Amino acid sequence: MRMAPDLQIDALTVRYPDSKSEFPAVRGLSLNLAAGEIACLLGPSGCGKSSLLRAVAGFVTPATGQIRLGEQLVFGPGVNLAPEKRGVGMVFQDYALFPHLSLKDNILFGLTAGRPKSAGAEESRRVDALVELVGLRGYEDRFPHEISGGQAQRVALARALAPKPRLLLLDEPFSNLDPNLRARLAREVREILREAEQTAVLVTHDQSEAFAMADQLGVMFNGYLAQWGSPYDVYHEPCIPEVAKFIGEGALITGRQNQHSVETAVGQLPLAPCCCNESASNKEVRVLLRPDDVIHDDDSPLQARVIRKSFRGADFLYTLELPGGEQVLSLVPSHHDHPLDAPIGIRLEADHVITFPASQPIQAFEKSKA
Ligand code: ADP
Ligand code: MG
Repeated sequence: MRMAPDLQIDALTVRYPDSKSEFPAVRGLSLNLAAGEIACLLGPSGCGKSSLLRAVAGFVTPATGQIRLGEQLVFGPGVNLAPEKRGVGMVFQDYALFPHLSLKDNILFGLTAGRPKSAGAEESRRVDALVELVGLRGYEDRFPHEISGGQAQRVALARALAPKPRLLLLDEPFSNLDPNLRARLAREVREILREAEQTAVLVTHDQSEAFAMADQLGVMFNGYLAQWGSPYDVYHEPCIPEVAKFIGEGALITGRQNQHSVETAVGQLPLAPCCCNESASNKEVRVLLRPDDVIHDDDSPLQARVIRKSFRGADFLYTLELPGGEQVLSLVPSHHDHPLDAPIGIRLEADHVITFPASQPIQAFEKSKA
């Protein structure tokens, strides 16, 4: 059972008066996040992710809409609570630690809301617990220039958690870190937020990071929230082709949809419940096939030609041409090393496929390099 929302955003629009764009940075966006849940926002650069966080924190004033934190209306008709009264913490990409303060004192700064104050017994205990929580035991007397980027981000996280904010916002917190470290830190931060039962919204441009961290995933384009749901649902049941492409790889092939299935060049495939349609009969559609839906099988009578392959370590990602000329992707264990142009056997393991209206061009899409 979902709990009552801790963050509730309704029809929020953010417009910058001096913006060169004719469109608002955030356009009529609504979402709910339950207490203790972690949401990740994904979307291309400039789609409005940071603007949304700034509006929630109170750093920009939205044009219209409402924002509630728990029961409290913090922005709405006649209401615009000051940032420091919202109980919202923020973590940024650049850590923003104070260079002249030890790590311990940087964390204490979060606790005393910036008032110059030496730590009482209770505050010392809280700082100590936070040092432990973020795994910096033994480093607490160091200064920011004496630690790594990953450690600095843990200090920034501890400082933001110190006052027990009702909501924590993290704007691309791992972007300055190298890929191995960021994957590890993302996992650790998830554990830390879980342990603190902290409701949080994290902006990232890294899909695997979002999948690893999110209870709820939001995908934004041009100020709109295109989809909001569990990572599993957004991956397997994207609501528009743009979402399907943005968060994964695959292909869209033509099909003829009937009530519960769709006829394609690779056979008849059952539809996901969300695509089943009483009135659909013989309707031309595009069918989403993910690389894990297309299984390489040497014994299968269905043959496809290898036109591209990229080595991924444990797997090859093969781009395959079907007999009718359409392309699909297939993830194949890398000991199946077939040459270009060779025919290989495939079978479909797609038990619930998604379809889209047959309008846009059809092509296979691989992950673009970040
Ligand atoms: P993201 O974080 O997804 O990259 P932003 O929220 O930073 O996107 O930006 C959304 C849009 O708002 C962009 O078109 C950007 O140029 C514009 N924008 C962001 N900040 C400002 C600002 N302070 N003044 C004017 N326009 C801005
Ligand atoms: Mg941003």
